Amino acid sequence: MSIIESLRKLVDPVQLRQEQEERKALRETPVKETAGAPPVFVCRVCGHTDIQDAYCPVCLADTMSRQELPRR
Ligand SMILES: [Zn+2]
Repeated sequence: MSIIESLRKLVDPVQLRQEQEERKALRETPVKETAGAPPVFVCRVCGHTDIQDAYCPVCLADTMSRQELPRR
């Protein structure tokens, strides 16, 4: 084993840790955006939009489906 390889073994855990932290930061950012946006429910029958729950007050039925709004 060369000296360079032994040095790389010492450095690699640090790089791995940095990559994991970067990935964690990338993963946490979209979660925060999703948590800040209120859920929107759209009735698939009449198109009524509500943020409360999956029950449509117009159709008086459980026809609302949750819709993810793109925030860009
Ligand atoms: Zn409806």
